[in-house]
Amino acid sequence: MAVFKGKGVYGAVAVGKALIFKRQAAEVRRVSVQDTEQELERVNSAKELAVAQLTQIHEKALKEVGETNAEIFEIHIMMLDDEDYNDSIKSIIETQKVNAEYAVAVTSDNFAEMFANMDDAYMQARSADVKDISNRLIACLTSSGESASVQDEKMIVCADDLAPSETVSLDKDKVLAFVTAFGSSNSHTAILARNMNIPAVIGAGQEFLDALEDGCIVGVDGHTGEVFVSPDEETVKRLENKQAEDIKKKQLLLELKGKENITLDGTRINIFANIGGVGGIGAVLANDAGGIGLFRSEFLYLESEDYPTEEQQFQAYKKVLESMAGKKVIIRTLDIGADKQIDYFDLDKEDNPALGFRAIRICLTRPDIFRTQMRALYRASAFGELGIMFPMITSVSEVQKCLDMCEQVRNELSADGIRFNEKTELGIMIETPAAAVISDKLAPMVDFFSVGTNDLTQYTLACDRQNAKLEPFVDTHHEAILRLIEMSAENAHANNAWIGICGELAADLSLTETFLRMGIDELSVSPPFVLPLREKVRSLSLK
Ligand code: PEP
Ligand code: MG
Repeated sequence: MAVFKGKGVYGAVAVGKALIFKRQAAEVRRVSVQDTEQELERVNSAKELAVAQLTQIHEKALKEVGETNAEIFEIHIMMLDDEDYNDSIKSIIETQKVNAEYAVAVTSDNFAEMFANMDDAYMQARSADVKDISNRLIACLTSSGESASVQDEKMIVCADDLAPSETVSLDKDKVLAFVTAFGSSNSHTAILARNMNIPAVIGAGQEFLDALEDGCIVGVDGHTGEVFVSPDEETVKRLENKQAEDIKKKQLLLELKGKENITLDGTRINIFANIGGVGGIGAVLANDAGGIGLFRSEFLYLESEDYPTEEQQFQAYKKVLESMAGKKVIIRTLDIGADKQIDYFDLDKEDNPALGFRAIRICLTRPDIFRTQMRALYRASAFGELGIMFPMITSVSEVQKCLDMCEQVRNELSADGIRFNEKTELGIMIETPAAAVISDKLAPMVDFFSVGTNDLTQYTLACDRQNAKLEPFVDTHHEAILRLIEMSAENAHANNAWIGICGELAADLSLTETFLRMGIDELSVSPPFVLPLREKVRSLSLK
């Protein structure tokens, strides 16, 4: 048994087989063959398997991310049947007398290049799809057809690090736990892991990866951050006992469903949940959150191959609002850049991405993208209780420009006779020290503040949230951060605005009393943290 220590980002326990997350397709070698008929048969069987996998993924995607986003898998199935693509594979096998894997890989390179060189942006995007289906086909040829996304057994995903886009594309129903060798606990990957309600440890180190073999048994303790490779019997027993205790605790928490978020002496607070996509609504409802305090809309863009259209966005926002049946839903406008990169935005490489071209800076520079999103949001506002908030604000003029865009969009919709809610609340994130310090000037402009403590911590303490080495220097309870939050709360309330916290600190139960004493009106946390937070609030007395 080997033991490694990382940082637990979701406190739960799991024991299971390791699935080493492979970013690149297996290396394909050219092998001469005699029996080309057999290779052609292998291609046909692999294709059948690939289609079965894609059909399964398509069905799951329909449930989780909606029809529009699921469409890509239908396209993949059609591409696998494309005549030119299949003729090319056949001809390479027959004329060069080579193995099927090699023929698929060569076809993939040729077709991908051909698409990439086309003028039309839609066709260019198909280049990545050809590579994707070909990698799947090669995986079906080389293994017994298992691929990371469709293994039958729930497994422990082990990776060096995962980009947010990689994390969203994992088949979440098949993930027993998450362990990464690198990455920091405030990264978006960690946030996603928390949302997935599964044990997760970040930063277990290179040695952990080196000790792994695909399929070996791994024990994960998300409470302590310990990871055990090939654990002995005693450790497995101990982890299983801990797992049983966790389940019991969770059952006790379920008794809090339907109860109020009220302290012993009568102070009430809203407890909302954070989600990254339409697929998160189930968890919000199951955990009895009072609303959605942060819908990270950028995941719609991350899951898409091209800019999501106004209609696609409208459908997604409408679905969230309708599912929440009149409960408040706060949707944050696009927050990409830094660790959330999207190819089709074609953003320049930057030396300091966290201090770079991101979030509202992109929207204010690209009004076409901003306007599309705002139109979709306002159109959706007719279907529930929407709040819109803007990320990474640093100045009065940025807020003014956002409000101007809102006004422009409202005027356009009115002129076109399209229904929307005139009273849609508008707010900003307080996630830069600048915004907190001038919160007296910003508060009169908006209906609410939402404190993004993840970025507020990074910018106040000058510690890159992606840099795992800095964890010892990140004091999340630093007085400077708490003072900035308190200052923002005072300025919000002095101007009839409300204030919530939607960064990870909102779930830190050792700060709940402090936040309540500051008069914070709402705490928005990953869905699994709603009931523990309710339990904490109900145990406190502020007298
Ligand atoms: C934050 O910065 O605290 C926040 C909620 O936004 P994100 O984590 O998505 O940057
Ligand atoms: Mg942020």
